[in-house]
Amino acid sequence: MDGSIYSNYPPPLDPAWEKFLVSTIKDWAIQNGLAVRPHPSFVPEGVDSKGVLATNAPVTLFPSLFPKARFEDAVALQTVYNELYAAITCNEAWLGKVMENLIDVDDFISNLWKVHLAVQKEGYVQTLSLGLFRSDYMIHAPSTSASPSLKQVEFNTISSSFGGLSSLVASLHSELLTSPPGRPISYPPHPLFDSRLPPSNTAVETLSAGLAAAHKAYGVSKSTPPLPLCILFIVQENERNIFDQLALSKQLSNVSKIPVFRVNSSEILDRTFIPEYNAFRPLIYQTHNPSVQFEATTVYLRAFYAPSDYNSPRDWEARTHLERSAAIKCPTVLNQLSGCKKIQQVLAEPAGPDHLSSFLPHKDPELIAKLRETFAPQYDLATEGQGRELALNPETAANHVLKPQREGGGNNIYKKEIPEFLRSIPESEWKRWVLMELIQPPAGPKNIALRSDGEVLRGNVVGELGVYGTILWDNSTGEISHNEQGGWLLRTKGKDVNEGGVAAGFSSLDSILLY
Ligand code: ADP
Ligand code: MG
Ligand code: MG
Repeated sequence: MDGSIYSNYPPPLDPAWEKFLVSTIKDWAIQNGLAVRPHPSFVPEGVDSKGVLATNAPVTLFPSLFPKARFEDAVALQTVYNELYAAITCNEAWLGKVMENLIDVDDFISNLWKVHLAVQKEGYVQTLSLGLFRSDYMIHAPSTSASPSLKQVEFNTISSSFGGLSSLVASLHSELLTSPPGRPISYPPHPLFDSRLPPSNTAVETLSAGLAAAHKAYGVSKSTPPLPLCILFIVQENERNIFDQLALSKQLSNVSKIPVFRVNSSEILDRTFIPEYNAFRPLIYQTHNPSVQFEATTVYLRAFYAPSDYNSPRDWEARTHLERSAAIKCPTVLNQLSGCKKIQQVLAEPAGPDHLSSFLPHKDPELIAKLRETFAPQYDLATEGQGRELALNPETAANHVLKPQREGGGNNIYKKEIPEFLRSIPESEWKRWVLMELIQPPAGPKNIALRSDGEVLRGNVVGELGVYGTILWDNSTGEISHNEQGGWLLRTKGKDVNEGGVAAGFSSLDSILLY
């Protein structure tokens, strides 16, 4: 890796210039909706009892440098990844076999599987399934390697967030890079700024187009008499990242002219119902106006991905209620489960059956090989073997991360803590976790971040690129009617921070300059 590209980037900023940039960004963020609700710990007790406050999303002052060829690799692989995860979701038997080992040790996975079984027993009435996916990568640049490669951190099949805000960060940085003559120049000069802008970021358009494609594919109302059609966003109460979600619903309402309603996951059973006399099982949404009802074509889950979203049997009942309805789910339970870390570990197994070729039988072997190259080594911990050896030895554990079957950040165990952690839990539970080799990002990059509480952090950073993709397919035939890539996300965190989520408080939103 040519480390020198980072050595004078970003350009030095004296305190007055930094202050100017910070205040410009702070205001731009609120004016343009690059915002989040404040974390409760930022707000003194009693100050925001009505929940009216918002603040800038954590954001870097400068775009980060990213190797152009690796960005293009990630973009080129996205529709193949979309197909792979659609194919896995279609193969209930294969998925069930992988889940089998988790079900007896992981209540959350077990309960999700039970939802699927219950609906399968009754019979699914909707075979279409929508995926709004995000594949996350880091640049792997171990000192011994000649050229940096692209390694997948994880693949997300549920609630893939930040498409709305990431496109705003690209706009913010682009504006700062192109401040017109006659205005104060926003950034100090740097040779990389001369002709470069972040690549176009169509995350909002792409994700909304995926939802709109499902809406259209649903067809006409299944109710008698027919009802107007809508899309439902299933959300968490007190969602801090609401403006990210509103970017998508606004695009759907304003551009696609599709009505969108937000429903808290805890209110699903109060606000929606399925008429029992209707064998098509349409999902009816009761608006706040008692005389107005809509039929939901599509339910987009921005909740129900974590155990904390299921606080009582009623929440599981609500998930089952959505699953058995005629609405197209984004995602279905099976599609959610296909995104388990365990699946990613099984796909990455170097020996044994060639799962990729079986799931993608018509794909060019070269393309499959490229996809396989994005896998970092991952290990099963169910039985004695290499995984356990690496995880229990403090020296080798130091180069690994231990992941459970969870989403949303803050769930992993890192490096030297792995052996001690494993020894603190019963051996019978080790199979809940997979061990993954740490990706080694380049050491040089630096940036400055404005956090949501106004704090400014600076230093060496690590970037994680997310690439968005959408796919609509038929679970019974495997037929794909929409498969697109579009939009990206860069999250940047301090070099010594293990975790990476923005919502979980570890990273800042960023954009990229390709070199
Ligand atoms: P989640 O689904 O909770 O986001 P991830 O697999 O993305 O789980 O892990 C969370 C964070 O941990 C990532 O954003 C990244 O910063 C870090 N991480 C995960 N796997 C690796 C890895 N193999 N190498 C380096 N960092 C990793
Ligand atoms: Mg995830
Ligand atoms: Mg992640």
